[in-house]
Amino acid sequence: MAEGGVQMATVLIRHGRIVTAVDEYQADILIEDGHIRTIGKDLVVGDGVEVHDASGLLVLPGGIDVHTHLDWEFGVARTADTFGTGTRAAAFGGTTTVIDFSNQTRGESPLAGLEDWHRRAASACVDVGAHMILLDVNQQSLADMQTLIRREGVTSFKLFMAYPGVLMLDDGSLFKAMRIAAGHGAMICIHAENGQVIQVLVEEAVAAGHGAPKYHSETRPSLLEGEATHRAIKLAELAKTPLYVVHLSAREALAAVAEARAHDLPVYAETCPHYLFLTNAEYERPGFESAKYVMTPPLRDLSHQQALWRGLRTNALQVISTDHCPFCFNEQPLGLKFSKQQGQSDFSKIPNGAPGIETRVPLVYEGGVRRHGMSLQRFVAVTATNPAKLFGLFPRKGTIAVGSDGDIVLFDPNEPWTIRASEHHSRVDYSLFEGQTLTGRVKKVFLRGQCIVDGKDWRGREGMGVFLKRGECGTL
Ligand SMILES: [Zn+2]
Repeated sequence: MAEGGVQMATVLIRHGRIVTAVDEYQADILIEDGHIRTIGKDLVVGDGVEVHDASGLLVLPGGIDVHTHLDWEFGVARTADTFGTGTRAAAFGGTTTVIDFSNQTRGESPLAGLEDWHRRAASACVDVGAHMILLDVNQQSLADMQTLIRREGVTSFKLFMAYPGVLMLDDGSLFKAMRIAAGHGAMICIHAENGQVIQVLVEEAVAAGHGAPKYHSETRPSLLEGEATHRAIKLAELAKTPLYVVHLSAREALAAVAEARAHDLPVYAETCPHYLFLTNAEYERPGFESAKYVMTPPLRDLSHQQALWRGLRTNALQVISTDHCPFCFNEQPLGLKFSKQQGQSDFSKIPNGAPGIETRVPLVYEGGVRRHGMSLQRFVAVTATNPAKLFGLFPRKGTIAVGSDGDIVLFDPNEPWTIRASEHHSRVDYSLFEGQTLTGRVKKVFLRGQCIVDGKDWRGREGMGVFLKRGECGTL
């Protein structure tokens, strides 16, 4: 018996081309008891070993998505995926580890928030870790941060500079939490937008009768993302803590991160596929359809998109995650609580967020490797290795090495396919990338040696994912 309570087969993956963040070579992989035991040429095995032929395929470490909101209550809305459906979708997209956001409830301990998250996460089909969103910064929650780090394996904290009255912390609170993280090997993840100024712009737009979804974008200008990113970096510098900027979308924010890194500060940033593939032209769609693209920060114009691809090339950006925060477009069948329709006449009431957990790895392959000259090693780094290193999971996760977990993706770099919401595994009813044709497709996925995705067939089960107690956050 092993983790997850399942008898584990010994598995041989042979004749594939192994790609890691530093290597590329032809070899076989033997996985025993969930771990990679041997990597070598033409391995010879006895009977009873499950053999998978990876001829012509890339053999990649399982993807790691460090930004998801599964089964998450946000104001009066709730995300449409459970951990069961969301992580099954992740698996079909080549992701075998998810770090999701647990959150403190105002007036309660973050430890209670983690307990609630564990209850919801019990149905996970891939391995999961938790970040903690802090909403109250006081003596008790600062003490609880240390318990979370030492005892619970929660070594990263998300702080919001946006959504005043709901999630936002003032600068003093940000600074206090940063100092605790600094002393205990934890990472601060920051949502960097100037929430108070955005609130002014939103109130003015609503008062002027501007209810259409595109005003979501017009009231969240890139300058305010740049300003907040710069401010967060300065606070983190003073607190001497590493900083990880989530869902970076704006040229101005990228410039602030690049400048900090040029001064040797431990500042990191992720962007998401929607900022790399889409622009604010989506907000010109007729009627309410553009509500599908209401996420925060909003989509930007092409010059920002080009800057982000440049940022990936120059290592100003180190990670691509999804910010999978799915709300259905239609009210039925899940109900209004799970739907964008809440904001039918008022953009400020549209639940902020979009799906993407299943399409990240193939999109980065298509956009990065095929269209923007990204090396295969860099592709693996930004989708698996870097997130593992930054969030205390390496080398258990994020690479293919002897002793690492047997989380493997067999990827056909030549197979074309078209993204269709009707074929994906999330409960959400649309895709941001509907109709886009990609080359490069996930064929098989192994979680700790168990084949959970085999072509179109699902062989995993809810609850087989284990909770990952994470170690100290690393540097790159
Ligand atoms: Zn998010």
